[in-house]
Amino acid sequence: MIITGKTRLLGVIGYPIEHSLSPKMHNAAISYLKLDYIYLPFPVPPQQLHQAMAGFEAISLVGLSVTIPHKQAIMPLLKQISPTALAIGAVNTVWWSESGWHGTNTDLYGFLSPLRLLERDWTQVTPVILGHGGAARAVIVGCSELGCPEIHVVGRNKDKLDFFKDSWRSTGLESQIYTHSWDKIEGLLCQTDLLVNTTPVGMTPQIQDSPIQEKLWDKIKPSLIAYDLIYTPSPTLFLQQAKERGAYIIDGGEMLVQQGAAAFEIWLGKTAPVEIMREAFQN
Ligand code: NAP
Repeated sequence: MIITGKTRLLGVIGYPIEHSLSPKMHNAAISYLKLDYIYLPFPVPPQQLHQAMAGFEAISLVGLSVTIPHKQAIMPLLKQISPTALAIGAVNTVWWSESGWHGTNTDLYGFLSPLRLLERDWTQVTPVILGHGGAARAVIVGCSELGCPEIHVVGRNKDKLDFFKDSWRSTGLESQIYTHSWDKIEGLLCQTDLLVNTTPVGMTPQIQDSPIQEKLWDKIKPSLIAYDLIYTPSPTLFLQQAKERGAYIIDGGEMLVQQGAAAFEIWLGKTAPVEIMREAFQN
């Protein structure tokens, strides 16, 4: 990659940001397509988000990936937000246009990509989602888009669960969402065909942990799809346990690659070289 006087800037903002794999993926795609762009990591502390966005505007930065802790905080700074991001309540991709910053959420597309390859009658699938943070919101909108009539969400704090349920009031999805405490997991496991882990339990370095106790895996249906949003390690203990019981498993790697590819296409108006991005991620 050669930086010239005309090289244009893309990047990712988060805090911390050192762990991000997005620079590797995007710069591999930029090099492959021989584009005069560079994608950089920007550590932006929460209290400096406003100044950072003003600075990015001043230097004509083209677009950004947005990660923790800015996915919600950035929303008031945007001129326009896509209906998808509004439904999810978080933005992970922004770009500059003449009228100001625009934002959307490509996590939804990333989450759905591996599921859309499967032949399932989603109207007969009752997903169970473990955890109810930012990523779970994209997962819920995704399950609703697939046509799943009911979506069950498991959390460990009753007040947070109630708040979470309430937060869907204005979206029209509230009536599809059922919340449960963890002591209900055994009953839920017997019924579900799609179990999604959106908690960080099992992520490096805590790779010996799983959100589901070993003995409970005997309750699963043979048709179960176990999906873990975590991509390091791959597979997680959660996915190893599911696979041993015959479930179809999906890790978070493809979601990461596909959400990045969707963002790349928004910024550059070109088809993303997904295979190159996947290779960069895997390496
Ligand atoms: P988040 O907003 O912090 O939400 C985490 C959720 O997990 C919360 O509901 C939290 O509950 C729950 N949780 C945390 N520790 C738990 C534990 N020990 N037992 C039970 N529940 C627990 O995080 P997020 O942004 O949604 O991200 C969640 C995971 O998804 C992370 O591992 C992240 O790396 C992954 N992710 C992957 C992709 C991808 O592209 N593959 C994209 C986004 C996120 P409390 O509120 O009670 O703590």
